Amino acid sequence: MTLIRFLDPTLINQIAAGEVIERPAAAVKELVENSIDAGAKRIDIMLRDGGRTLIQVVDNGSGMSADNLKLCIERHATSKIPDGDLFNIHSFGFRGEALPSIGAVSRLSIVSRPDTEEMAWQLDIEGGVKSDLTPVSSHTGTRITVRDLFYATPARLKFLKSTTTELGHCADYLKRLALAHPSVEFSLKDADRTVFHYVSCSTLEKRLEQVLGKNFVQNAHPFLATREGVEISGWASLPTYNCSQSSEQYFFVNDRPIKDRVLGAAARVAYQDFLASNRYPYLAIFLKVPGDEVDVNVHPAKTEVRFRDQQIVRGLLISSLKQALEQSSQQVSSHLASEAIAILRESASFGGISSRTYSPGPSYAPPVQRSFATSSYRPEVAAYQPLQIEENDIDVPMLGYAKAQIHTTYIIAEKPDSLVIVDQHAAHERLTYERMKQQYDQNEIKGQVLLLPEIVNVTESDIHLLQTHISEFETLGIEFEIFGTSAIVVRQIPALLRNIDIGQLITDLIADIKEMGTNFTLKDKINEILSTIACHNSVRAGQVLSTQEMNALLRQMEETLHSGQCNHGRPTYIELKKEDIEKLFGRR
Ligand code: ADP
Ligand code: MG
Repeated sequence: MTLIRFLDPTLINQIAAGEVIERPAAAVKELVENSIDAGAKRIDIMLRDGGRTLIQVVDNGSGMSADNLKLCIERHATSKIPDGDLFNIHSFGFRGEALPSIGAVSRLSIVSRPDTEEMAWQLDIEGGVKSDLTPVSSHTGTRITVRDLFYATPARLKFLKSTTTELGHCADYLKRLALAHPSVEFSLKDADRTVFHYVSCSTLEKRLEQVLGKNFVQNAHPFLATREGVEISGWASLPTYNCSQSSEQYFFVNDRPIKDRVLGAAARVAYQDFLASNRYPYLAIFLKVPGDEVDVNVHPAKTEVRFRDQQIVRGLLISSLKQALEQSSQQVSSHLASEAIAILRESASFGGISSRTYSPGPSYAPPVQRSFATSSYRPEVAAYQPLQIEENDIDVPMLGYAKAQIHTTYIIAEKPDSLVIVDQHAAHERLTYERMKQQYDQNEIKGQVLLLPEIVNVTESDIHLLQTHISEFETLGIEFEIFGTSAIVVRQIPALLRNIDIGQLITDLIADIKEMGTNFTLKDKINEILSTIACHNSVRAGQVLSTQEMNALLRQMEETLHSGQCNHGRPTYIELKKEDIEKLFGRR
């Protein structure tokens, strides 16, 4: 008969290591968090092979006495829950698991000296076997060296990825920690190459600049909000400053970097009006939650949390992000202008322009004017009244005065110190969308009855789909009747829409509904539906506009919230500073 026995302590630690230390980055995380818990003001991390053969963490924290050093590698030995209260934790660690786990799967060496003592002690542990303490000379603080991680558990070793990938994981987590602790100096080296070195900062803004770059700080807004004891602060990027992955979103709960689906999803909701679904804003968000409102002990790695009242946190995050967005609503991120200048610089040829470049030559033919609404075409030259702008003109509106339309797509406007280029379709789409949202909120989207009802062919299953939403379409100003088994007759469309392709609009709305699945009401998805409708609005690329019409569009943009980007997060305008243009021509 097989006997039940207690597991050997080294085996217990190796099993724990499987959970706590899944890769080099996890060991780095545990060691650096210990340094922060020990009050270190400077932490230097050195790796080899992405941490696989060497991880060394040197700190100037409180250090450990000889007695503490002996205990620190014992399982469940910790100095960090003074009252045994799991819901009042102010440190990263509290489980007393990291050092024994690392010690069970690597060759670990700890040198530590508290500032009350003259010399340091060294303790080595290899595959779980401890040495005696030996006296060594060292500065105050702790130096922990981990060699050959997972040498004692070869199966885990096989799961490690390339050096670049493992180093990437280490750097990523360290950046997050650095963001939460601006006053602490951090450096990371891999094989003597400095990956980063963040000197101590007096403000979060400076640390954000070090870690996420100047562009982030210039294109993001700080915000702060509190509700029922929960505080949310941070920086949120303008919608036009976005990226293709959610990895540039940094969330912290009580200064602990965390990954949390609820927070990520809340950010999505706040930005859904301004960004295409495959684009993400850059975010650095810090939550301060009372200890008894949040459980950090969900997973041994402690990168997940559970909120007691998730709704408060979610609601507060959405509303504060929306507010931050409102404050920056007409602004377009500044990196676009510098990107535009960079592109111009690359493609422009400076000096000695050959005559071949600027003479049209015999094969030159003016581009054919494409116009969706030929009836609205007016000869521009006659109507063109150039507005003179003086250098010291102070009443110039935010987007300046329209000077010209080019490629029947862009409006060029002038301000005393800059040039503004507006994408007329993106801008008008946004204006229509904001107006429709407003009308919808006030329950008064006006419909306009069509003089000639339009027949739109659809499939039989689409008819069924449309039928279930007939009354909801009415609230959107769209009225139609079912016509046989494969067509509908549209009698009314929203009054804001003119010259649109009704068949295309209906087809797009059907596609929207299909994508959303059956379990919804149009009301739930109203912003998506309105944005589809707005996209069909009349000012298209390719439509000629008079100067008056262009100026009217600019003035409307200035008065409309969120007019800095279209519904898909693309900018509606770019502003090029006069001095940048001068630089292009070597005048500065
Ligand atoms: P925990 O952090 O959960 O307490 P660890 O195994 O990570 O568990 O560490 C055990 C103990 O060792 C800590 O509670 C702390 O007292 C001590 N310790 C670990 N690293 C350091 C360090 N860098 N400086 C000072 N003390 C440390
Ligand atoms: Mg710890």
